[in-house]
Amino acid sequence: MLKKLVNEAKFKLTLTTTGPVLIRSGVATSSQGRNPDMAPVQTFRNGQREVFFPGSSLKGVFRSHVEKIGRTLNEPAICNPFDDSFCGKKYQKQEDFASHEAYANSCPVCRLFGSTAFIGRISIGDAYLVNSAQRYPVELRDGVGIDRFTGGAANRAKFDLEAVSSGVAFETTVYIRNFECWQLGMILQVVRDLEDELIRIGSGTSRGLGGVKGAVEKVEISYPGLPQKEAQEVWGLGKFLASQTPNYNTRADDVLTLTAEPPTTPNGIRLTSVYEGEILAELRDKAGQEFVQRIRQWRAL
Ligand SMILES: [Zn+2]
Repeated sequence: MLKKLVNEAKFKLTLTTTGPVLIRSGVATSSQGRNPDMAPVQTFRNGQREVFFPGSSLKGVFRSHVEKIGRTLNEPAICNPFDDSFCGKKYQKQEDFASHEAYANSCPVCRLFGSTAFIGRISIGDAYLVNSAQRYPVELRDGVGIDRFTGGAANRAKFDLEAVSSGVAFETTVYIRNFECWQLGMILQVVRDLEDELIRIGSGTSRGLGGVKGAVEKVEISYPGLPQKEAQEVWGLGKFLASQTPNYNTRADDVLTLTAEPPTTPNGIRLTSVYEGEILAELRDKAGQEFVQRIRQWRAL
C-alpha cells in the first residue's frame, strides 16, 4: 500500500472520565492493599505504576463506532470482521492480490483501519494521565449484577472491581496517514461523538461503566514533499494518486476547499497547516459531509 507518505493528519485527544471506567488488565493486580477481582490495566511510566488507556483498546473503540455509523448510512457497504464478509477474508493470500487491489476493493472501514490484507493507516497511541500527581485514581465498585461480562465470577456472591474514577483526564495522539478526505471526516465524526459523550469505552458499558468525554483543540495536517496547493485546500490521497496507476479506486477530486486559510508553515520538507477554532469547525463540517456522501454512494460488498 503506497510506500510514499503524501499526507498526515495528527491531533491530541483528551478523554476525561465521566463515571467509573474499566479497561481490564489480564491479571487483577492488587493495589492499595485491596484484592479486587478486576482492576484497570496499568503501566510503568517514569518508574511508577499508573493507570492508562491502551491505544489498541481505543483503536478498537474507534473502529467499532465507525462500523456502527457506516452501517447506519449504508449497511451493505460495511463488512463484518466476524463473518465471511470480512474484507481480510477475500485477500488473505497476500501473493494473490497486489495491495492496491485489496485497498480498492475493501470496505470503507477496512480502508482506514486495515484488515489481514494490509496494514491500517490510523494509529492511536496509549492514553496517559494528564495530571500524574495521582497515579492510581481508582474507586472500588461492587460488581454484583455485572456478571454478564465477568465470565468466571458469575456465580460468586461477592464480587469487587476497581475502576478508574470519574473526572480523570487522559491524553493521546491520533495519526492518520495517506488519508482520503472522507476518512478524515469519518475520524472527526468519532471525535464529535466522543465530545457528545455518545461513546463508552472498556468493560461493563451496558451496566453504566465506561463514560468518557472527548476533546480535541486542534488538528495539524502536513504534506511531505511540499505540494503546490492553495492554503485553503486540504488534499486527500486521491488527489495525489490522480495521475497514477495502479488504481486504488480513489477520486482525483479528493480535495476540500475551505473559506479561510489556516496558518501554514513549511517545516523542512513538510508543509504543515494548523486548524483551530472556526477553521477547525469548518474542516470538520466539510470533511464530515464528504464522509456521509461517500459512504451513501459506496457500492455493496
Ligand atoms: Zn471491511
